[in-house]
Amino acid sequence: QYPEAFRDRFMIANLLEFSAFWVLEYVRVEAYKALLTNLDRMSRYAYTDLLTGLGNRRDFQNHLNWVRAQAKRTGGGFSVALADLDHFKTVNDTYGHQVGDLVLKHCAETISASLRETDRLFRWGGEEFVLLMPNTASAPATSVAERVRFNLEANPYVHDGNIIPLTISLGVDSWDAGSDLDALLRNVDARLYLAKRQGRNKVCGWQ
Ligand code: GH3
Ligand code: MG
Ligand code: MG
Repeated sequence: QYPEAFRDRFMIANLLEFSAFWVLEYVRVEAYKALLTNLDRMSRYAYTDLLTGLGNRRDFQNHLNWVRAQAKRTGGGFSVALADLDHFKTVNDTYGHQVGDLVLKHCAETISASLRETDRLFRWGGEEFVLLMPNTASAPATSVAERVRFNLEANPYVHDGNIIPLTISLGVDSWDAGSDLDALLRNVDARLYLAKRQGRNKVCGWQ
């Protein structure tokens, strides 16, 4: 019963409204997708060390909590090794900070290549790394640490034809049911300190 002109205007208005809605919805969905991608990137940045690409200390803490929860549930254990490059300040003082950075990346790669598939390496900070070994008792963990020490010494960094010798000291300890996590971290730190005191390029762990 509507006049024809009114009906046409009504249909055109509906069509325009629908098109505008479609465009707005498309933009909204795309913006939401971009937001999710950025969120993902930001959370990866928050847990990654930019220089070496390894997980950072926050990432280590998360993994440590997870591995401990798993160990508690299954009645297993795990080990941690704290590693510190020896006399790294001399590398910076001799070759400069930029070469120092390249050496740190090289060390991260060499150490990573020395690990088993289930072990995980993080940058603790500065020239220090931390190694988390799930389902690993003291003796095998000390062997992994010894392999890390050996491989780093066997793979010096070469800069402009100069061989930069590298050594590392490590402290190792294990967690099993009933152990205290803070005590574990204190022990690896104390053992690393002992390795330094005993002359560096050394692993202090299970004897
Ligand atoms: P030690 O055997 O007792 O561990 O001696 P060290 O020289 O390795 O230890 P020290 O704590 O005296 O020096 C650590 C050096 O590591 C000093 C610092 O400038 C350097 N360093 C820490 N983080 C970085 C980094 O991201 N890049 C570079 N190039 N150097 C770093
Ligand atoms: Mg240090
Ligand atoms: Mg050092």
